[in-house]
Amino acid sequence: MTQNILIIEDEEKIARVISLELEYEGYQSDIATSGKEGLELFQKGNWDLILLDVMLPELNGMEVLRRIRSTDTYTPVILITARDSVVDKVNGLDQGANDYITKPFQIEELLARIRACLRTNAIYQKEEEEEQLQAGDLTVNEKTRDVIRRGEAIELTPREFDLLVYLLRNKQQVLNREQILTNVWGFDYYGDTNVVDVYVRYLRRKVDYPFNTPLIHTVRGVGYTLKEQA
Ligand code: CA
Repeated sequence: MTQNILIIEDEEKIARVISLELEYEGYQSDIATSGKEGLELFQKGNWDLILLDVMLPELNGMEVLRRIRSTDTYTPVILITARDSVVDKVNGLDQGANDYITKPFQIEELLARIRACLRTNAIYQKEEEEEQLQAGDLTVNEKTRDVIRRGEAIELTPREFDLLVYLLRNKQQVLNREQILTNVWGFDYYGDTNVVDVYVRYLRRKVDYPFNTPLIHTVRGVGYTLKEQA
């Protein structure tokens, strides 16, 4: 799949040279020649990486970076600093830039940094995928706390979420009420195991009933199990 790189650089000659080199390396790229235009393109497009010049008209690169990071902590940003300014580099990294390169630079060095950033990001992406728990058409992301079934987002309370995660982590296994209570409510919970039944009921109402295919099953006399097939 072709990777898209957004170049935000007001010196058009430099931007064009970078763009051509990127194309030659098999990337797709777009050029914005001001901070404002850069932000607009950033919001419209689907970018794998952003090259961001610090010295820009209208909005400077630091401000552009700050605004990008206020909504997107994920897309790698490489700063291009005109001067060998330690302040810019430190500020940039503090604001969430992944790397920087100082003008004038060799294109090979820039390409190497781009490759490194994209590689690191691919690893994060894989880790993120591994944080997903799944059963049938239900996916739960523990990091983002997104619960999605058949493409629909499901809102859960924190306790319901913890219960669902515990059931998913132990799917296909029959879990008794004490086990569930200890693992979801904690060792120090003093209360009736009935609370488990109550929360399983809440969970079923949100996760199972609207979708007709139950994932949570009652095992009579024992407890519950989450499995893909009845
Ligand atoms: Ca500039």
